[in-house]
Amino acid sequence: MDKKDEGYNKAHEVHVLVLPYPIHGHLNPMLQFAKRLTSRGLKVTLAPTHYTAKSLHIDAGPIAIDPISDGCDELGYRNVESPQAYIERFRIVGSQTLAQLIEKHRHSSNSLCCLVYDPFLPWALDVAQRFGLRCAAFFTQSCCVDAIYYHVQCGQLAIPVTASSIELPAMPALQVSELPSLVSKPESRPGILELLVSQFSNLDRVDWVLINTFDKLEDEVVRWMAKIWPCKAIGPTLPSAYLDQKIEGDTNYGITLHDQNADCMNWLNTRETGSVVYISFGSIAELVPEQMEELAWGLKGCNYYFLWVVRASEEDKLPNKFKEETQDKGLIVKWCPQLEVLAHHAIGCFVTHCGWNSTLEALSLGVPLVAVPKWTDQPTNAKYVEEVWGVGLRPRVDEKGIVGRIETEHCIREVMEGERGRDIKRNACKWKMSAKEAMSPGGSSCNNIEEFVTTLSTLAKEY
Ligand code: UDP
Repeated sequence: MDKKDEGYNKAHEVHVLVLPYPIHGHLNPMLQFAKRLTSRGLKVTLAPTHYTAKSLHIDAGPIAIDPISDGCDELGYRNVESPQAYIERFRIVGSQTLAQLIEKHRHSSNSLCCLVYDPFLPWALDVAQRFGLRCAAFFTQSCCVDAIYYHVQCGQLAIPVTASSIELPAMPALQVSELPSLVSKPESRPGILELLVSQFSNLDRVDWVLINTFDKLEDEVVRWMAKIWPCKAIGPTLPSAYLDQKIEGDTNYGITLHDQNADCMNWLNTRETGSVVYISFGSIAELVPEQMEELAWGLKGCNYYFLWVVRASEEDKLPNKFKEETQDKGLIVKWCPQLEVLAHHAIGCFVTHCGWNSTLEALSLGVPLVAVPKWTDQPTNAKYVEEVWGVGLRPRVDEKGIVGRIETEHCIREVMEGERGRDIKRNACKWKMSAKEAMSPGGSSCNNIEEFVTTLSTLAKEY
């Protein structure tokens, strides 16, 4: 056996199972983390739900895919009567199907020693520990947001929140409107806050808490969390091509949810550096028609080129004739390869809902932001974007929570060409360097991943 083959066999001595919650914003970072493990010689199996495996195109490279049932194989989670009903069904069915999956892999080889699970599924920890597996909870939201949910879980932050401003350890004072919406307005989505706080219900039994962030970005709160749990910041989990360039072929997330529009890259190629405004509200957020209209006229008003992602389900909210009236300035697509778009020299700013993945992507690629948060963790991410990291502006909302056309136009202009825009661009460049540094050899997240892998390799010898 030559050296290469020896390495190959050794690589397969440590086997890790990765169990994501089946939504885009959770699958992407967990799959990327899995790629980091395989690139260091571990064997990884990803366990999406059957529905996810059927409905998405997942190109996982060397990672094996072995789906489990969540009790909604045909239906999919969106079509269950309520989020609580889905979560409960996944708990009951998933506890059995995850156990069967672990047993199957244990039977075929002895190397399965660790479960990396999404803490939206806290029962997975109980199942895996019955088999003696080590467990790592993988948080896909920011450390600050995770810490806020923990404060709710342990009663430090009482619900309903009555004060107008909140002081919590290791984070800046937050207005109620800057808290995650499920904390400030839990009644807006009944049952979801329970899901978020239950992430911590059994966290005292995990071996690792992995968070998709990096030390410099959330320095204080990461250190605060590390006093309670064995925390490691392992992000940002962008494909290696955008960060350290150490994993050959890792140029995209490998998960395709919607049909992408290839034309938009050709369209961008014809634009000048920093001349285009990119707008996207991610895979879930729905705008009220009035917000869509104000945004549209604000974009038209500022007269920059724009690339706007309007998902098929949102299209009928666009103002009449808007597409026709702006066709020489704007391109509207249903979905685009966002990483490629953000990395393109033509992009001057990103009007975003501040989903955590979009935020990390913009930070890592040095793109200035106009932050228009909608719900869940987005208001808190937007606060950090403007006030902590200094990489964007938050337009003011009116009494109905709408960002008007004049405010939209003003903020986009300010970020693209204004005085504050210059500082924002400087900060964005600085964070881009820091993100690269964190994931490159010797960087904080890179070291944390190395340490995780080394510990697992040592433990595997005990199995
Ligand atoms: N995304 C994409 N194309 C689009 C819009 C979004 O590839 O046209 C990706 C984006 O790069 C990010 C994810 O979808 O990785 C959205 O995740 P995020 O956490 O920002 O928001 P969510 O969809 O969870 O609200």
